[in-house]
Amino acid sequence: DGRYQLESVLASGGMASIYIAMDLRLDRKVAVKIMHPHLAQNEEFVSRFIREAKATASLNHPNIVGIQDQGWNEGGAPAVFIVMEYVDGSTLREFLFERGSLSLDEVLSFMIPVTSALSEAHRIGIIHRDLKPENILIDEEGYLKLTDFGFATICNPVKGLSQVLGSPMYMAPELVLEKSYNAAVDIWSIGVITHILLSGCPPFY
Ligand code: ADP
Repeated sequence: DGRYQLESVLASGGMASIYIAMDLRLDRKVAVKIMHPHLAQNEEFVSRFIREAKATASLNHPNIVGIQDQGWNEGGAPAVFIVMEYVDGSTLREFLFERGSLSLDEVLSFMIPVTSALSEAHRIGIIHRDLKPENILIDEEGYLKLTDFGFATICNPVKGLSQVLGSPMYMAPELVLEKSYNAAVDIWSIGVITHILLSGCPPFY
């Protein structure tokens, strides 16, 4: 909408691309997540995308990536976007790839802020549902930030999912088996991530 100038692509996933951009009004770097144009025609995807923005924006925690804006491209190609705090660093996945596995002290120093962020989300009734090392960002000072509440649901055990979304390796069985689930599904993923950080391999193949 004339405010954000895209500079380079950070990542591109199934649903959206993430860019480093400049906020021309406040003169600072931000991360802009833009939904793929072909999905922007689909009402369900658009509402899920906006739900991610709203769920994350309602969270105020130092270890959760802050959301700054959400909007629609005006003038160019139709596009829906989310603007968030830019985390200059890497993901826990990349960190782990370089290191293989971590010491117990390092794992605790990573998982304490992650579980603290998650605890805040659960406190206000938001379940992340897609926790994985790719969604845990580490900035240059080693500070952790949780991102991608794209599959988040508002608490209240939900029955039946129309499709399995997310990353099977980290997903609790009840999410895959289409049974009712609650915030415990995030605790499951935390267990899987912790196992991988400590041993370098997943608990289940
Ligand atoms: P998707 O829903 O398409 O998987 P994510 O939100 O998980 O998108 O982001 C994909 C990747 O983009 C992350 O693994 C990370 O490398 C990068 N990324 C996402 N958000 C930010 C951010 N705020 N700052 C820096 N990099 C980010």
